Parts: sequence; C-alpha cells; structure tokens
Amino acid sequence: FGFKGCQKIRGPQIRNLLEAKDFFLFDCDGVIWHGENAITGAAKVVSSLIRRGKNVVFVTNNCTRPRENYVHKFYRLGFTDVMLEQIFSSSYCSALYLRDVVKVPGQVFVIGCDGLRRELQEAGIPCVEEADDPDATIYDCALAPDVKAVLVGHDDKLTFLKLAKASCYLKDPECLFLATDNDPWHPLSGGRILPGSGSLTAALEVASGRKATVIGKPSRFMFECISSQFRGVDPAQCLMVGDRLETDMLFGSNCGLDTMLTLTGVSQIEEAQEYRDSDQTTNHSLVPDYVVDTIADFLPAFEE
Ligand code: PLP
Ligand code: CA
Repeated sequence: FGFKGCQKIRGPQIRNLLEAKDFFLFDCDGVIWHGENAITGAAKVVSSLIRRGKNVVFVTNNCTRPRENYVHKFYRLGFTDVMLEQIFSSSYCSALYLRDVVKVPGQVFVIGCDGLRRELQEAGIPCVEEADDPDATIYDCALAPDVKAVLVGHDDKLTFLKLAKASCYLKDPECLFLATDNDPWHPLSGGRILPGSGSLTAALEVASGRKATVIGKPSRFMFECISSQFRGVDPAQCLMVGDRLETDMLFGSNCGLDTMLTLTGVSQIEEAQEYRDSDQTTNHSLVPDYVVDTIADFLPAFEE
C-alpha cells in the first residue's frame, strides 16, 4: 500500500501540470469525442494548447479510417487546427511497422475495413485482393502463394471464409501475425457495444495456436512512431490522456509517460482505485497518475 496514483486534480494543480509538460498525447474516442459528437470544450482545449506552443498528438486504436479521414473528422467536429502529422492511428502505425520494421517481403492478408487497406496501400504495402464470390468456400477458394503477414483489425464485414483463410496462412511459421489493436469492445450509445479487434484476434489465436503482435496501444510501438517523427521528444515532458485503463494508462506506463484518466469514457475511477490498492504490482501500471472529470477541466488554466 501507499502506492501513489489516481490523484483527482483541479484548478491550480491542472494549471501547474499543463505548464510543466510540453507534449500532450490524447486518445480520441472517450476523450476528444464520442463517435460523431465532440466532447464539450475539447476543441477549445486542443487549440489553446497548440496556441501556447505545446506539441499535441492523437493516438487512437481505431483502425477503420486512413489519416486523411481523421483530419476531415477533426475539422467537421470543430478542431480546425489539427494536421495530418499529429494523427497516429493503429492503421497508420501498422503500415509503418510492415514497411519500416519488418519490411514485409510479400503480400499482406488483411482482416479489416477498407480504411485500413487504404492506409497500407498508401505506404506501398501489397495486400491480397478480396475476391467477392459469395459461393466460395475454404474447400475450393484460391489461396495466395506469397502471403507473409496476416493483419487483423476491426472488420464489420467479417466472414467465416476470411477467418478460415487467415488460419491457413498462419500455418506458415514465416507468415507474421499482427493485430492493429487488442481492444475487446467499444461502447455505443444506448448501452450497446461493438466487438473490438481483440475479439477477432482472439478467434485467430485459438485457430492458429499463435499469439499476435499488437501494434496499437498499449504497445510501445505507437510511441516509437511518434518519437521518430518528433525528434527529441522526452517521455518526462509528456502527458498521456485517455479514458481506458487497459489501453491508455498501460500505454503511458509502458512508455514512461505521466498518465491522466478522464471520466468521459470507458473506465471509472473506482476501477483505477482497485488497481491502485491491489497487492499485485503488475496492476499498478494501469493506474493513472492524475484523474479529471473531463478535459474541459483544462479550460480555466488558459484564462489569464
Ligand atoms: N476501434 C474501433 C473500431 C472503434 O470504434 C473505437 C472507438 O470508437 C476504437 C477502436 C477506440 O478508439 P480510441 O483508441 O480512440 O478510443
Ligand atoms: Ca478511448
């Protein structure tokens, strides 16, 4: 016990923290917006930080859009000063991983939305074309001979055939197994949920007996992408702001960043306190350093 964390901060404490940090990483869904609705005050917070010369980047596990679409979405929701270079999505980082880290020597079989495929194409990664023959089955469909990676992300058109093909490709130990992210589910309005990429990855992990390499939060790779594009970023100068303990707070801890939980999304403060008070020290990396109700709590800090 006595492990620190979960400090609920307000007013002058927020002001001091914002002054002390010069690099802000924001998760998107649950922090900046809910689906198509901006969190009240979030656009003003982002533009105020930028105007004060702070670095601001966005780290999202949502792999369904290419970065250009995010620029449009930010603009549409009132974030008029966000640029492409500030957006780090799990699809963009997956493309960088395939291109620059593993330099994939063949085609990639993608389970995911068109947006993921487009991001890969933009990076010059060859993807297996999906034939849309509704009568094809795993008994008689064609398999591409040079698949060197299976990449799994959120796919709202998932079929049994896609899972079956991916399982076959993964029998080759030289075929890499990657997941854009491992999120279990996402909240929708009205109490409904959307199964996340993690649920699809789990199906393939069982079928293949293998473990996927996760690109998105909480893996450190996203921070490596940020560091390579913003030279000299010092983890001690960063604040990671997110709404989910198992992805955002763990990501921050894994990368040596101070972390802040906002209560506008998935995780509740009670869950964070339980992790804090747990005897299992591995749980402590899920505990935020700071907690605010919403990032709109930053706003008074920008007043003179
Ligand atoms: N993936 C999908 C498909 C989603 O719909 C969402 C949230 O809506 C996410 C991931 C999580 O995004 P973020 O990391 O911005 O919270
Ligand atoms: Ca989130």
